[in-house]
Amino acid sequence: MLNFSLSDEQTALRDKVRDFAIKEILPIAWEFDERDEIPVVVLKKAFENGIMNSDIPKQYGGKGYGIVEGVIMTEEIAAACPGLATSIFDNSLGLEPLVLSDKESLKKKYLTKIANEFKLICFATSEPVMGSDVSGIRCAAEKTDNGYRLNGTKYWITNGGIADYMTVFATIDPKSAHKGICAFLVEKEWDGVRIGSSIPKMGQRCSNTVGLHFDNVEVPEENIIAHPGEGFVLAMKTFSRTRPVIGAFAVGAARSAMEYAIDYAKKRQAFGTKISNFQTIQFKLAEMYQKIETSRLLTLKAAWEADTGIDPTINASLAKFYASESAMEVVDEAMQIMGGYGYTKMFPLEKLFRDIRLLKIYEGTSEVQRLIVSGHALSSYEPVMPSLADLPMMKRLTEAERSNADVSGINAWRCRMCGHIHSGDEPPEECLYCFFPKTAFKELVR
Ligand SMILES: Cc1cc2nc3c(=O)[nH]c(=O)nc-3n(C[C@H](O)[C@H](O)[C@H](O)COP(=O)(O)OP(=O)(O)OC[C@H]3O[C@@H](n4cnc5c(N)ncnc54)[C@H](O)[C@@H]3O)c2cc1C
Repeated sequence: MLNFSLSDEQTALRDKVRDFAIKEILPIAWEFDERDEIPVVVLKKAFENGIMNSDIPKQYGGKGYGIVEGVIMTEEIAAACPGLATSIFDNSLGLEPLVLSDKESLKKKYLTKIANEFKLICFATSEPVMGSDVSGIRCAAEKTDNGYRLNGTKYWITNGGIADYMTVFATIDPKSAHKGICAFLVEKEWDGVRIGSSIPKMGQRCSNTVGLHFDNVEVPEENIIAHPGEGFVLAMKTFSRTRPVIGAFAVGAARSAMEYAIDYAKKRQAFGTKISNFQTIQFKLAEMYQKIETSRLLTLKAAWEADTGIDPTINASLAKFYASESAMEVVDEAMQIMGGYGYTKMFPLEKLFRDIRLLKIYEGTSEVQRLIVSGHALSSYEPVMPSLADLPMMKRLTEAERSNADVSGINAWRCRMCGHIHSGDEPPEECLYCFFPKTAFKELVR
């Protein structure tokens, strides 16, 4: 049965996270953004309040929540600060390849630790010279007697500067593209792991982003998450499960922008009346509301698919690019409604605007999501309607045929070039409209 309501448990979870976001994040986010600094203490509080690692399975000491619960929680944190939402939920990105893997001893060792102690794990596919093209990874994994030796650089790594563990994707041979990609669990303290300076950013300045360098880092056999040839698929499967969460970042940020705009519009006077009385403002709000609601539905659907065992790839991509782009439009309109005040650092719109610009870039750009969806539409998507050449659009029926609405027994031919339908036992010698010959006609199947 189709059901759009949250369970009592999900509602309670949402309320708890909402409370945390408003009490613990909202008051400090602007200060840390200004300082370009990650408030690790807030991440620790989130961990202590069960707002991190929600997707670690119960057998490893986790909550065992699904992606649906993940997006419900994310929306609330992102409404207060998208940058902190990125940092708090980055653990789920870092540990997802491990959750998806079949490496039982590795899961037992690290997932149990991450569930029980305040430990951060980051996710590293991107490099200085590649991001979208994951098959173009260059970080080298060289086979040794005991495992692999890593050499190379990862870039743009969220929480990389503060993470205890790193899920690192590398290749045994850059020329073998996706076939050479493997993944490892690396510990920060291992010899040869170097962490770059925090990368200064336009937005999400409450999140930490760095480069990681690996200098002859020895990875033991037991820390292999994916062997060569398995890593690329694992990265893609991970993204299919984490992209709905990016949709939830967008929903949360857009929702708070709309709420601030409504608040302002109901109080601000112009031309002798509240600006909320102007239809232009009302229609802006209606469209903002529409975009948020649509984004939330798409996001939840993709998350539900992931939890139900349906391949969420397409809806995860749709949710990511639709929600990210809609959020940009919503925040922009909210800023417009707030006039000059929207543009200042005294109100939250300016920060939200900077923060959510990232959503169209990380975890696969909007262009990459369009490639995924259009690839599906043009190949594996199964159409319901007949092809254009087979459309049974009968024309010039007799009155009797029309009154019966029954076209069985009528012979008809469709010109495959211009679509003209010719009734008769044989196709015409030439199309009346486009002059194509008899051979262009196809008999309509009824
Ligand atoms: C703040 C921040 C945090 C991040 N966190 C992480 C992290 O934790 N872990 C991690 O691994 N990465 C992370 N990233 C990296 C992020 O995933 C990449 O930046 C992103 O995937 C895009 O890669 P790129 O920057 O190399 O751009 P490129 O891949 O070089 O793309 C440049 C432009 O070309 C377009 N383009 C590329 N290929 C195509 C194509 N085939 N068709 C059409 N257009 C195309 C892109 O859409 C983009 O507009 C982060 C990035 C940022 C900015």
